Amino acid sequence: MSELNLPAAPLWSRSYNEAIMQEQAASVGLCLDCVHAKVIQSDRGSAFYLCRLSATDREFPKYPRLPVRICRGYENSKAEGSDGERAT
Ligand code: SF4
Repeated sequence: MSELNLPAAPLWSRSYNEAIMQEQAASVGLCLDCVHAKVIQSDRGSAFYLCRLSATDREFPKYPRLPVRICRGYENSKAEGSDGERAT
């Protein structure tokens, strides 16, 4: 049996996914990959970003106005030392 060396995803798919990611990054901002963000899905399929810091710090709105461009509470969920927790 011969082995096919196919890429994990077709090139068009990869660029499509990158375009979606860029669009999300532009519309959501920092909450997109913040460890304190929790994505809430509505019954209608809309997604809301809940800031979990709002439970302990009144300076953080429960549902921040998007896109969030500057935030003192931001912590990258992919940063070294982060537990990457990101409940959905
Ligand atoms: S800390 Fe800031 S960036 Fe993180 S979820 Fe809350 S509002 Fe968004």
